[in-house]
Amino acid sequence: MALLGATGSIGTQTLEVLRREPDAFDLIAIAGGQRLSELAAIAKEFGVARVGVVSEDDRRTLSGMLGAHTEIVVGAKGLAELSQCADVVVNAVVGFAGLPVTIGALEAGRRLALANKESLIAAAPLVAKVRATQGAQILPIDSEHCAIHQCLAGSSTEPGHPDVRRLLLTASGGPFRDWSKERLAEVTKADALQHPTWSMGPKITIDSSTLMNKGLEVLEASALFGIEAERVDIVVHPQSIVHSMVEYVDGAVIAQLSEPDMRLPIAYCIGSPERLAHGWGRLDFTRSFSLDFQAPDRNVFPALDLAYEAARRGGAAPAWLSAANEIAVEAFLNDQIPWSRIVPLVAQVMDQYEEDPLESLEALFANDATARRLAHGMVTH
Ligand code: NAD
Ligand code: MG
Repeated sequence: MALLGATGSIGTQTLEVLRREPDAFDLIAIAGGQRLSELAAIAKEFGVARVGVVSEDDRRTLSGMLGAHTEIVVGAKGLAELSQCADVVVNAVVGFAGLPVTIGALEAGRRLALANKESLIAAAPLVAKVRATQGAQILPIDSEHCAIHQCLAGSSTEPGHPDVRRLLLTASGGPFRDWSKERLAEVTKADALQHPTWSMGPKITIDSSTLMNKGLEVLEASALFGIEAERVDIVVHPQSIVHSMVEYVDGAVIAQLSEPDMRLPIAYCIGSPERLAHGWGRLDFTRSFSLDFQAPDRNVFPALDLAYEAARRGGAAPAWLSAANEIAVEAFLNDQIPWSRIVPLVAQVMDQYEEDPLESLEALFANDATARRLAHGMVTH
């Protein structure tokens, strides 16, 4: 296995699964953006031969910690190399920086256990091409998509899933569920970093507070399962126990349930087609609990409509949405813009989008750079 993004929230939880299954996997490569001493500790614990870092400086520092027997690779090129060296590749990098892993693993015909939704969303038409490589496979770690993957077992193998009426993506609603627009104008960083049901990295936690995460997940589901975004509906479900559902044309709805615990989808993706027997997130049906569902408020959370609009436009529109959002979230986390400005800033960038069918990686990088430049300009003005 290669675990890229090893020091983050998904990375750390993947390591917990590996510790429970010491004989099932041989961890041969890891990578991380910061926290070099943590990266070194993981390399030592698991006897990892190859490590990826982002800069030459990091390479020198880590080399001092690990010695000459560990190979250290640098940057996007290093990530691409590591993504091709293992049978199972976990992409737990955050943001567009995860793109070389997604493309590299699929190009080499590997199993990609994908947490990094941003790469798939931005590069959907390009990912669709490399996914056809012999042996290439995507298993989604994102809990909703992992649930849908399981709920689709036994469904039609025809393209577009004609026996499926719609996918029902569940959303916790984030920390601001049921808040009014007025109250949302006063949100602080501490409020936004407090997720009610999941403990995650900072970027996705902020995305969950704006519901942009759910918008991105609509695009992710559409790309993963080959189902148009109009057939992906969002259902707010505050308990985060039903991880998502599939409604078939005959009216039957199939759901996957567990306690919110990312180690279950991680174990599912790396273990597939077998199920690892540890049992993460088991539900206790002897205690009473309830499951509530409601429709999201699209007026209060306009990120959802932005995502459906990007899906309708296709091409590079999802890449713009995701890139502008990365810049806006970073600006919020750096105290440059208030929370209430994140989604309007993304909307303003999307207003300037011009159709591009996204036929090459070069086109993707150009689109990504343009959207980031526009977003940066709006942050600083
Ligand atoms: P995180 O911020 O906790 O961790 C990100 C990891 O990526 C860290 O190890 C960081 O060092 C590494 N990284 C960042 N830039 C890098 C680069 N240029 N090269 C190499 N490594 C780099 O984030 P997270 O919450 O673990 O999320 C990771 C991905 O999984 C995101 O795309 C997120 O949307 C998705 N996801 C996370 C959760 C969750 O529960 N945390 C759930 C569903 C999906
Ligand atoms: Mg999710």
